[in-house]
Amino acid sequence: MRPDIAAALEKRQAKKAWKAQNRAYIEALAAVAGKEKPKRKTRRKKYRAPTRRERDAYEATAKKFVEWRAMGLCDVCKINQGYSWYHIIPANEGQWAKWSIENIVWGCRECNCKENKFRAKYVDLHRMIFGYEFYAMLREKSNKTVQFRGEDFKRMREALEQKMASGLRNGLVDGGTQEAA
Ligand SMILES: [Zn+2]
Repeated sequence: MRPDIAAALEKRQAKKAWKAQNRAYIEALAAVAGKEKPKRKTRRKKYRAPTRRERDAYEATAKKFVEWRAMGLCDVCKINQGYSWYHIIPANEGQWAKWSIENIVWGCRECNCKENKFRAKYVDLHRMIFGYEFYAMLREKSNKTVQFRGEDFKRMREALEQKMASGLRNGLVDGGTQEAA
């Protein structure tokens, strides 16, 4: 056998032996303390990407929810009738901005178009309309990397439906995001 392979094998054996010894030691300690054998750590659930159907269902509910909350009127200009959802932090700035209900309001066609064209100007406008603190909070949250699982979309949709059923229009619903591992 080549000497380097032999050395590697030996090293691995030593590591295994050390681990076994360590485990025995921990168990002995637990026995002394009168506790049961420590459980093996459960493995983290695997990330499950949302299906298109789940995302679409959530999108439809989120739109319905913001329209219901705004009573049909555009949340930005408060003059026109809205027609679709409107992202305070642009939707292309990551998953959180795109899906979190905190970032979504009801908007009219005109505001949506103008916001697309004059993004910098609208940042100031958003601060004035929704409050400096609220905007700063959104900004901070949108800067974090967030990944939505399939279950998250289901949970968020159910939360919105519950909120609509409760009939209370004020107050935002927590987006309930999962931070990426
Ligand atoms: Zn508007």
